[in-house]
Amino acid sequence: MDKKLDYAPCGYIVFTREGRIEETNETMCDILSSTKTEINGEHLNNILTKASKIYFQTYFTPLLMMHTKVNEMYLTFVTSEGEETPALINAQVRDDMVECAVLQMKIREEYEQQMLFDKRNAERILEETDKAYRQLQGLLQEFEQKRWELTMLNGELEQLSITDSLTGLYNRRYMENRIDDLLEKAREDTVPFGVIMIDIDLFKVVNDRFGHQAGDEVLKELAQVLEGGVRSDDIVGRLGGEEFLILLGSAGEKEAVETGKRLCQLAADKVWESTAVTVSVGVSVYAEGDTQRELLERADQALYKSKADGRNRSTYHGHIC
Ligand code: GH3
Ligand code: MG
Ligand code: MG
Repeated sequence: MDKKLDYAPCGYIVFTREGRIEETNETMCDILSSTKTEINGEHLNNILTKASKIYFQTYFTPLLMMHTKVNEMYLTFVTSEGEETPALINAQVRDDMVECAVLQMKIREEYEQQMLFDKRNAERILEETDKAYRQLQGLLQEFEQKRWELTMLNGELEQLSITDSLTGLYNRRYMENRIDDLLEKAREDTVPFGVIMIDIDLFKVVNDRFGHQAGDEVLKELAQVLEGGVRSDDIVGRLGGEEFLILLGSAGEKEAVETGKRLCQLAADKVWESTAVTVSVGVSVYAEGDTQRELLERADQALYKSKADGRNRSTYHGHIC
């Protein structure tokens, strides 16, 4: 064998068709951690793993005999120390002998192992990320649900804070805020609006005669009468006790007076389920420069006049109408 071949950068091995090793170079000896004397004369079976031995007999040899050459076959050798060494083999038949170039694949296998490990790691991380994402989606959904519930609760709470619990009408605080809004609008756009103050006549007598419960029923019934007697965008509220207030948006003098009169008449004509009552009404309409106090005071004075003049009537600006 050529001396140069001894130290070629790949293993070189020559064996008979039966698999008996005839020649090896030094590189091959290094791969197998053996010497030429130990290897030469041995059967190839003795330096291959069990799996490679089967592969060699059932696949490698028939292919070689058929085509006289085999390329890029993957076999695993066993060194004299029992260590497994994978290698890539190119073989050809020459002068009735089989000669092979053996390229060690140890590092590549390590790379492959590392790549496989990295791939599994990446898959695991992806799976965990996916799981975390699904959990996050669940939490987000829960959060949205809670937020929605909170919004609903806040809405209910807000509604409660502006509602009179007995009649379901708006309460005094809400009505005062709305008067402020209307005043602001009236000052900016010179749009007038009307205020109607209503007080049940001789309500004390109702309570005294029929009881507080019956009085409450009257308050609730009157609330319905008032709501039914105005436009849907008019605002009806209970100031407290048996006193009610109605705000007529964009209403001028004529409309406010007519509405006051109509409401008074509705109460007088109503067939009451509880106890028949009448109401006295005082009307005022926004005048330039009005404050809330002045506007309400005028309505109150008109109401007082209705009482003084005999109740069950509506008054505007000192005139019964
Ligand atoms: P006037 O025609 O002058 O307004 O006479 P009045 O009896 O209606 O007026 P007064 O202010 O003397 O009495 C009001 C009564 O309203 C006294 C009070 O017991 C009753 N009242 C106030 N709030 C309620 C309530 O929430 N429920 C009931 N049932 N009665 C109430
Ligand atoms: Mg009163
Ligand atoms: Mg009263």
